[in-house]
Amino acid sequence: MGSKSAAKRLMEQAQVPLVPGYHGLDQDPAILQQAADSIGYPVLIKASAGGGGKGMKVAESSADFANQLASAKREAQASFGDDQVLVEKYLTQPRHIEIQVFADSHGNCVYLFERDCSVQRRHQKVLEEAPAPGMTPKRRRQMGAAAVAAAKAVGYVGAGTVEFIANQDGSFYFMEMNTRLQVEHPVTEMITGQDLVEWQLRVAAGQALPLAQDQLQIRGHALEARIYAEDANKGFLPATGKLIRLAPPAESLNVRVDTGVEEGDEITPYYDPMIAKLIVWDENRDGALARMRKA
Ligand code: ADP
Repeated sequence: MGSKSAAKRLMEQAQVPLVPGYHGLDQDPAILQQAADSIGYPVLIKASAGGGGKGMKVAESSADFANQLASAKREAQASFGDDQVLVEKYLTQPRHIEIQVFADSHGNCVYLFERDCSVQRRHQKVLEEAPAPGMTPKRRRQMGAAAVAAAKAVGYVGAGTVEFIANQDGSFYFMEMNTRLQVEHPVTEMITGQDLVEWQLRVAAGQALPLAQDQLQIRGHALEARIYAEDANKGFLPATGKLIRLAPPAESLNVRVDTGVEEGDEITPYYDPMIAKLIVWDENRDGALARMRKA
């Protein structure tokens, strides 16, 4: 699952829906160009080894393709030491919907519903929420089943996230699977009342999952805001320096703060600019939004 291309080839076999695209090993620029032409523009060129939005370029037209390909490959080589790319249809106005899955070593696999992570900057998540606005119970079951199928196709054990890109019409396609607990897992913990780190420890110790699918339920609505060290006046570019003042809101059943920094700390260029996460919960979305504003 670490290679986006290999993962897509595997998901194709498991009949998980994919964005129309080319995920082949042949990286001849002429072949890639041909693939892009037949997919239809705009297309998205993605580093196969990529992450964090690096090595991703949009080609608006056939004439634009060669330049964007060269640029994606350069970025991929520099960031990941691997310049393999895939090409896929670039969806306009999509939503990023991901499904939390959990599997144990006894053959059990469940989904803990969805997160909507569509609010992004430079293809990087900024706000996440659960459940997803506009999600229907039927689509939730379909996406949950597709995510469980994806996890089972690789014999997965532990916490994972299956990321989908969803169209306005409700159709959805597999993007990639993250084989770890993600930054945004607290919104899922808030709406399910489960401690996913505890689940990970149980699974690692060889125990069975604590709950079956029909024992899992959604309660209320949760939002997470990522707090970044950024310079808003410079297009929100990552910023370094001393954290002169840091005053997080009081924590409660409704408000959770996850952070690894304290007032007076130095933000260096050696790690991520994300320094904290603010997570809120309430009975419904309006309530959660009000909590978030206040916190
Ligand atoms: P990374 O691993 O670098 O985060 P992803 O493959 O997860 O890359 O994609 C990151 C984001 O880019 C997605 O959340 C989505 O907003 C956008 N994206 C990815 N694929 C497409 C696509 N085919 N069309 C439109 N947007 C896309």
